[in-house]
Parts: sequence; structure tokens; C-alpha cells
Amino acid sequence: MRILVLISLLAVAYACTQQGTAQPDVAAAHLPEATNDTAAAMPPPVAEAEAAPVADPTPEFSIEYIMGKFDPAQHPDFVVVDKKYADKEGYFLRKDTYEHFVQMADAAKADGITLTIVSATRNFERQRAIWEGKWTGSRLIENGANAAKKYPNPKTRALKILEYSSMPGSSRHHWGTDVDINDLDNYTFEQGPGKKVYAWMVKHAHEYGFCQPYSVKGESRSSGYNEEKWHWSYIPVAKKLTDLAARSMTDDMIGGFKGAETAVEIGVVEKYVLGINQACL
Ligand SMILES: [Zn+2]
Repeated sequence: MRILVLISLLAVAYACTQQGTAQPDVAAAHLPEATNDTAAAMPPPVAEAEAAPVADPTPEFSIEYIMGKFDPAQHPDFVVVDKKYADKEGYFLRKDTYEHFVQMADAAKADGITLTIVSATRNFERQRAIWEGKWTGSRLIENGANAAKKYPNPKTRALKILEYSSMPGSSRHHWGTDVDINDLDNYTFEQGPGKKVYAWMVKHAHEYGFCQPYSVKGESRSSGYNEEKWHWSYIPVAKKLTDLAARSMTDDMIGGFKGAETAVEIGVVEKYVLGINQACL
């Protein structure tokens, strides 16, 4: 009998405890109705305080976009380049970039200068085909060498290919903001008609938002690809993507192709993605 009474008392005590713990919850549920003065005196909820600094000012772009992991033919911001501005059919550019390129090419034409796109958007898969061709030796590199045979050391081989070609995931050609014009050879732009083309671009490209990111190394930038007088970038959009790369991209994100293991050792993001003409920023 005594045991039964004890059990009953314990049960009542337990029920009271439960009620007791429930009360603060009910009170807490009413806290949002507190006056503004009360609310202002309270510290902000932890979740909000932590979320604010990581909010991205350019949410229209993602790391996937920066790394070219999309199909420009399916992307709503991209258009096909008209054959009259290119050496062949089938190039894609961002609409904003293309609109300004057309204005620039038409203005150049009026001055007797022809700007012809010879490469535009290349996504990750396209860049992988180029890079792996050079890595395995099925495509010769710019000095005419079979890199696989001439540079057996992986880091040396990667650095040699990186003189002119990006690792997949780290190319500005992924972005739809960058074009190669007329010829992939600096010499073309240093004499004859090409010299006039380059002089026109240096004088006028900025009026349409374009800049040469791979300028002479050592003057306007300390690292990265060799100079490319043919590569031009639409800065109003490319700057946002460069800023996002600086904030969010790391070497260990670069992968999924032959030779990718050298990316961290080389420091591809810092030296190549961000190794651009400072006047373009
Ligand atoms: Zn290029």
C-alpha cells in the first residue's frame, strides 16, 4: 500500500514537472509579440547573425557556372554568334557580352578593321578535350612539342601546357564573357594588318567594356598565362566572376581530368585564374 501511494505521489510530481517545463516554452512562443523596445534590447538570433556575412552579392553566378559545368546551348543567358562575326558557325556567348561585341565589331568595321571571333564559350567538357589532348600528346602544344614525351614530370608538363591553355574548370572561356579574335598568335598582331587591329583594340575596346586580361607578364601582372593579344574579356560581367572566383574558388576544387593532381601544387587559382591584367579589374 505504501508503495502504491509513493508511486502515485511520484506520478503527480512528474506531471507537475512536465507542466513546469512547458510554461517557459509557451512564454517563449509569445516573445515575438514583445514591444519594439524589448526586441531592440535583445541580441539578434544567432542564425541571422551568422548568415549575413556569407550572403553572396552576385547570387546569379555559382561555382558550377564559373567552372563551366553547364551547356551554353541550353543556358537562357546565352546566344549563338552570327556567322558574320565568326570564322565558323556554332559559337555561343552571353547575351550582354555579344551585344557589346557586335557594337564594337561594327564600329571597328566602320574604321576598316575586321574583328572575327575564332573562339568563344568553351565549357568544362570542351576544355577537358583540349587539355587532355595536350596532356596525352595527341594534340601538340604551342612550341610544336608532344608534351607527354618531352615533359614526363607531371608538374613540368602542366606548367608548359599552362603557358597558353587553362586547366578545365579554371578558364575564362567558361564564362561566356571572353573571346579570341582573328588569330591565336601574337606575331599576327605585331606586324602587317594585324598590328592595326591590335592598335584599334587597345584604343577602343574599353569603350565597349572589353579588356585584354593576358597582357605582357611582369608589367601589369606577375603570374599566369603568357601574353595573348587575341583574347578579350567583357569586364562588366567578367569582373563579377573574377571577384567570385577570388572569394570562393580553391585549387582543390579543380579536378576531373588527367593531370588535375598538379593544380594544388601549382596554385592555379591564385596564379592563373587571378593572374590577370590589373587594369581589367
Ligand atoms: Zn582565349
